[in-house]
Amino acid sequence: MTGQSQGPGPEVLMQFLFALRSRGVTDKAVLTAMEAVDRGRFVKGIFAERAYEDLPLPIACGQTISQPSVVGLMTQALQVTPRDKVLEVGTGSGYQAAILARLARRVYTVDRFPQLARAAQALFAELGVPNIITMTADGSCGLPDQAPFDRILVTAAAEDPPPQLLAQLKPGGIMILPVGQSDTVQTLIRVHKLDHGYEYEEIRPVRFVPLLEGLAKDG
Ligand code: SAH
Repeated sequence: MTGQSQGPGPEVLMQFLFALRSRGVTDKAVLTAMEAVDRGRFVKGIFAERAYEDLPLPIACGQTISQPSVVGLMTQALQVTPRDKVLEVGTGSGYQAAILARLARRVYTVDRFPQLARAAQALFAELGVPNIITMTADGSCGLPDQAPFDRILVTAAAEDPPPQLLAQLKPGGIMILPVGQSDTVQTLIRVHKLDHGYEYEEIRPVRFVPLLEGLAKDG
């Protein structure tokens, strides 16, 4: 039986933070947020014991929880401030959303799998995270009712930035997302919305599950 995570313990936590720093996660606020969120609570069963290694791991519905250093680099690139309203597309385990919630005013997170959205919502309640709103939705359309957003983070790869997400970003806002064909190398990019137009910047190669259209059926 694998019980609920008791947290990483001081030595493992130090190694976890060291690995993040050595891979370029240097922002203090991001490191503090990642120190506070126990990744062991977001992975289940046999994978829980590998929660503090810098690896992506399988979660339910054939999806993955991202590698901690990639979560850190994406969060850092997003430049979240405490006043921000953030949209995350691709709740997955909820790990990334829990980190964003420590940095932002409010986080909306959506997944196309009802099962993943429900499980993450229950976990946020258990962990006492007050400022995440979790929904089942096709995030490629964004969340028109809650738009505009100061920041948007997409954790599944699209061929191009979805136009509806670009439209739901505030002027001055930032969106981080992987773009490119699935199954090949994708590029993590930063989109800065200007008063007139957008500025695009490549960050690094990454590999994510594809951003798929429509809701998924549980099972
Ligand atoms: N951020 C997650 C990892 C996400 S894996 C974490 O911290 O664990 C990518 C997730 O994107 C998967 O759960 C997948 O179901 C979801 N996804 C893919 N296409 C989507 C879409 N169009 N709308 C919402 N979620 C989507």
